[in-house]
Amino acid sequence: MRAPQIRTPHPGPRTRAHLDRLRRAEGKPALSFGLSPEAVVMERGRGAAVEDVDGNLFLDFAGGFGSLNAGHSHPKIVAAACAQAEKLQQAMSVGSPPRTRLMEKVLSLVPGSAPKKMLMATSGSEAAEMAIKLARRATGRQEIVAFQGGFHGRTSGALSLTARGAQRQGLGTLVPGAHHVPYPYLYRSTFGDDPAACVEGILRLIESYLENPAGGWGGVAAVIVEAVQGNGGMIPAPAGFLRGLHGLCARHGILLIADEVMSGFHRTGRAFAFEHDGVEPDLIVLGKSISGGFPLAACVAKEEIADDTGHRSEGTTYGGSPVSCAAGLAALEVYEEERLGERAEKMGAYFLKGLEGLAERHPAVGEVRGRGLMVAAELVSDRASREPLPLARDLSAAAVEKGLLLYPGGQYGNVLAFLPPLIIGEADIDAALGIIDELLLGAART
Ligand code: PLP
Repeated sequence: MRAPQIRTPHPGPRTRAHLDRLRRAEGKPALSFGLSPEAVVMERGRGAAVEDVDGNLFLDFAGGFGSLNAGHSHPKIVAAACAQAEKLQQAMSVGSPPRTRLMEKVLSLVPGSAPKKMLMATSGSEAAEMAIKLARRATGRQEIVAFQGGFHGRTSGALSLTARGAQRQGLGTLVPGAHHVPYPYLYRSTFGDDPAACVEGILRLIESYLENPAGGWGGVAAVIVEAVQGNGGMIPAPAGFLRGLHGLCARHGILLIADEVMSGFHRTGRAFAFEHDGVEPDLIVLGKSISGGFPLAACVAKEEIADDTGHRSEGTTYGGSPVSCAAGLAALEVYEEERLGERAEKMGAYFLKGLEGLAERHPAVGEVRGRGLMVAAELVSDRASREPLPLARDLSAAAVEKGLLLYPGGQYGNVLAFLPPLIIGEADIDAALGIIDELLLGAART
């Protein structure tokens, strides 16, 4: 399947018929229409290509929001899932050989000297909930510090750590005890865009809240952080930030939770994005590409935390599903066999260079950034003031018409974000760049 190929202008007749039926059947808060009002109705996918119900082929640079590091329907992952479905489809929360093997494999990828254990879940949100509960039980404290622009899921506990207005609208108080502090978002930081000064400023701010008896915080159990903020706009934390945070946590008896749901499993060039800063978190939240596109997530914790109180309190009907675990094991093998970490680094650099070329010609591109294949272009109406240009949704809808799926993101609706499968090649990137160029030309004319 060579994408893009638009045979029938999007949305084609079959797509329109499905969208009408979807609109009658599905509630409005569902994400189906969140990315574009005329969403793609997917029929099949292979690699970085998706075919819709009208036979149009799209280049998928949204990549299942980062769950398709090996691309759509990789033959090895499909074969493993099918073979397991024939043998044993559901094992509740009890043991099965794929569950054991997957856990052993994931734990072997986690760096650091402290022994670790895992708890299985179905979604990233659920795994984030587990991390919150483990941290509270292990420390006997209640509060969790999270970052502005961070995203940890949509269940109430995870959402209380997710500072995004759209998802929290109308919900009032969620789980109490969440504090949000600035992330080192250099392009828009009140601490300026010098990486070292920004890192130091934020760490000092956090420490001041912790040390000041009148700071308003009391009893912080954990800090949760994305080493590259994904939903927030593909923002890599500058060097030294996680290391500084780790030291600060250690000084105050606070646990460090790394949320690797989007960045994990080689997307940034390392198995986990926190490795770029050489830290060993106390807890790690995993999901998405842990299973190459099947519902599975996990929380990894240092052994003493994983085995702490709350005996038999965690578990879920589908967590550690044998089919998802078998698919996951195959996916983890594919990532290694096809050296997708190296590929993510190489293709990420190629993509960024191409975007930098576009930025030279399009003043609406204020910044391009990324780590590995978490890549973004941030749009501004004025480069000097960095005023956000909130065109991400409109441009991603226009991109669909041209055969490119991307991910409209950013905290101001102004980031074109890209999470392509790690198997993409230069020709795919060139095709995507050509479409982005056309989109930016179109935006400049309006
Ligand atoms: N954490 C991060 C960093 C994410 O990007 C996401 C989803 O995008 C989640 C948690 C929630 O995962 P899920 O959608 O599987 O619940």
